[in-house]
Amino acid sequence: MSRILVQKASALFNGLKNASRVSVVQARNLNLLEYQSKLLLRDSGVSVQNFTIIDDLSHAKETLAKFSAAEYVVKAQILAGGRGKGHFDNGFKGGVHLTKEHGEIAGMVKNMLGHRLITKQTPKDGIMVNKVMVAESVNIVKETYVCILMDRQYNGPVLIASPAGGMDIEDVAKNTPDLIKTVALDIYEGVTDKVAKEVANFLGFKDKVLEEKTVAELKNLWKLFVNIDALQIEINPLVQTDKQQIIAVDAKISFDDNAQFRQQDIFALDDAGESDPREVEASKFSLNYIGMDGNIGCLVNGAGLAMATMDIIKLNGGTPANFLDVGGSVKEDQVYQAFRILTEDSKVRAILVNVFGGIVNCATIANGIVAASRNLGLRIPLVVRLEGTNVEEAKKILAESGLPILSAGDLDEAARKAVTAIKQ
Ligand code: GDP
Ligand code: MG
Repeated sequence: MSRILVQKASALFNGLKNASRVSVVQARNLNLLEYQSKLLLRDSGVSVQNFTIIDDLSHAKETLAKFSAAEYVVKAQILAGGRGKGHFDNGFKGGVHLTKEHGEIAGMVKNMLGHRLITKQTPKDGIMVNKVMVAESVNIVKETYVCILMDRQYNGPVLIASPAGGMDIEDVAKNTPDLIKTVALDIYEGVTDKVAKEVANFLGFKDKVLEEKTVAELKNLWKLFVNIDALQIEINPLVQTDKQQIIAVDAKISFDDNAQFRQQDIFALDDAGESDPREVEASKFSLNYIGMDGNIGCLVNGAGLAMATMDIIKLNGGTPANFLDVGGSVKEDQVYQAFRILTEDSKVRAILVNVFGGIVNCATIANGIVAASRNLGLRIPLVVRLEGTNVEEAKKILAESGLPILSAGDLDEAARKAVTAIKQ
């Protein structure tokens, strides 16, 4: 689906997701499914297997008719690793299957599509599989691990490599750390020939042909890393095949949200299926929204004020249902949409509006509130605290609306009124 850009991806907003004082449930960092990552890898010259994607059983037959190979690998596409050792909610074992029989593929796909896959990395009840990859299988001689990522410890990118790649890489890191090599990369030079050769040899690819191929793959990985503003490109496994090829068999890429404005095509790939529907809806209207578990819906301008508002709600014994920063250039329609999202959330039992009009015109907020309250038939208590630009006009609009709005002079009073309103 196409995702409209959230324009204000401020550091503060990102920092909030990790803040311990509120229980934020969703991280917004974009991750791509394996097949989407592989399309990017392929475009950047990294070797991957040919594949096709099935997302609808009724089309499986015709899609598969066009795809033939000596052996196939069938892989459930979810945003989590450990699929090979996972199992499905229907009892089917393994999110990665090999077969030489074309006729067996459809049955495997049927066992995966529309079922939840549970792995070490998923929540307990697993993740719904909406897409299955069918790829040309390769005969693997050796599985290695490579990853390029931005590492705070190194203040920049690093290349991590291990000759013991595959499904047990976590154990390798824990039990045999000598088998993991970390090379700090110069952000301007990236993966040089020297670095690439050193890593290829560490991986065990010392033979001239394999070394050259690995060097080329690593340099192409770096090129992609920079071009797409990635935070991480992990290839596990990067394999040597019986035909002396070096191929990326599995791939996971995650992106820097702050670069979203530069990477619109990639962010448009975002598979929102597993995201909080409230967040998906809010992002369509360029609202900075994060869903939470409480029952007081908040509409605030400015990330700092939004955080303060949530803190004060908590101090007064309440719990916020969301973080919502409508931003400085908010339009009346966005206020309306924000209200709609809050009221459609059955957990929300009161709404607290806290706006400090600096750039924002309070009258715009007031008009949005009135329109939304009327059109949506608001039935829950609404507490409003407005201050700043054009506040007198705003108060007039609210008063003349005849709506039962509880007004508050300051933030503390607003929070107290919202918490009390729920208890009544
Ligand atoms: P993960 O379990 O989610 O990491 O999924 P992977 O794509 O890494 O696959 C798991 C394992 O299946 C790999 O480590 C390989 O051992 C094996 N595998 C994956 N693709 C192929 C393939 O094309 N051929 C063969 N022979 N094995 C494969
Ligand atoms: Mg893997």
